Amino acid sequence: MISLSSKLPNVGVTIFTVMTKLAGDAGAINLSQGFPDFDVDPELRELVAKYMASGHNQYAPMQGVPALRQRIAEKTKELYGASYDPDTEITVTSGATEALFSAITCAVNRGDEVIMFEPAYDSYLPAVLLAGGKPVYVTLKHPDYHIDWNEVKDAITSKTKLLILNSPHNPTGAILGREDMAALTDILAGTDILIISDEVYEHIVFDGHRHESMTRYPELARRSFVISSFGKTYHVTGWKLGYCLAPRQLSAEFQKVHQFVTFASNTPTQLAFAEFMGKKEKYLSLAGFYQEKRDRFLSLIKESRFQPLPSLGTYFQMLSYEAISAEKEIDFARRLTTVHKVAAIPPSVFYVGGDDHKTLRFCFAKKDETLIAAAEKLCKI
Ligand code: PMP
Ligand code: GLN
Repeated sequence: MISLSSKLPNVGVTIFTVMTKLAGDAGAINLSQGFPDFDVDPELRELVAKYMASGHNQYAPMQGVPALRQRIAEKTKELYGASYDPDTEITVTSGATEALFSAITCAVNRGDEVIMFEPAYDSYLPAVLLAGGKPVYVTLKHPDYHIDWNEVKDAITSKTKLLILNSPHNPTGAILGREDMAALTDILAGTDILIISDEVYEHIVFDGHRHESMTRYPELARRSFVISSFGKTYHVTGWKLGYCLAPRQLSAEFQKVHQFVTFASNTPTQLAFAEFMGKKEKYLSLAGFYQEKRDRFLSLIKESRFQPLPSLGTYFQMLSYEAISAEKEIDFARRLTTVHKVAAIPPSVFYVGGDDHKTLRFCFAKKDETLIAAAEKLCKI
């Protein structure tokens, strides 16, 4: 056997793969990994088929199909008032995962400190480690998972290179507000610290709140890589298409990495989105669509012993099971899947220290019949 000295010795298989496999093996309803169980809009599917059938099957331009970059620029201008040049400041990527990896790789040099907020989406840390960066964690405050900006201020040193933010936040459903953006602006004033803003759930914000995109704030936008995902917005997580917005110099460095991670992303889906994005109501109605799902799920489990935490965005709902069990999240998630036949994600895996609040994350991007069946099981526990 040839052995390899691991670059990521402490990294295992991602929890999403683990729980989805366990759900499949146990025949459980899978509310763990975040993906819809309903189908893509037939019109969008037909557009992809149309572009495939009409011969658009070779490499797209490295930065992405021009018509799609134009659409992204228009949407960003309309929703957030920010101007990005489609020729030099927008890159289409193979999912947000690739955008995060490329942004982290181009931003972080050996020894740079990177401030992240835990619980943190699990793709950030491996990318930071591979770039030779040093992770510095600030913990979101349970139970509403807000940021204590004094802690952020204290975490900043002369070696701080980058902050990775995520709003709406996976796994907690917390969102950043205007006061957060003001605090962030204050703290970063006079520094060269960069931001990666993971905004893949930008269109899924509830209860009349607005999405605080980094692009709205020129002082923040000028130091930011802003990342989104078509997978979340159009119910097509399997198509792996996303994008990154960043000022010209940052985009140039981003593209140096992007072109050798993937070169270019899938051509027919890019062309399909370029056409489909003209139907603005599709993304403008998404928040209402998912708010209804959240409310339906919450009303279905009202009589259960699970206690909901606030979910102001994303398609995830955190539920405390403190009234049911004192087990660790990982153990309870496993038992919930194998015995009670509902799979969920234990957020403790998103903390370096494994912080355990006896809470699980449930994905409600599901057909009503799936939510009803899952809730019936949860109510019996
Ligand atoms: N960031 C967050 C917060 C996510 O939840 C996800 C995936 N669900 C991603 C990034 C990755 O998105 P994509 O599937 O487009 O790679
Ligand atoms: N982002 C999705 C989630 O949070 C899963 C992504 C993945 O499976 N890698 O569930």
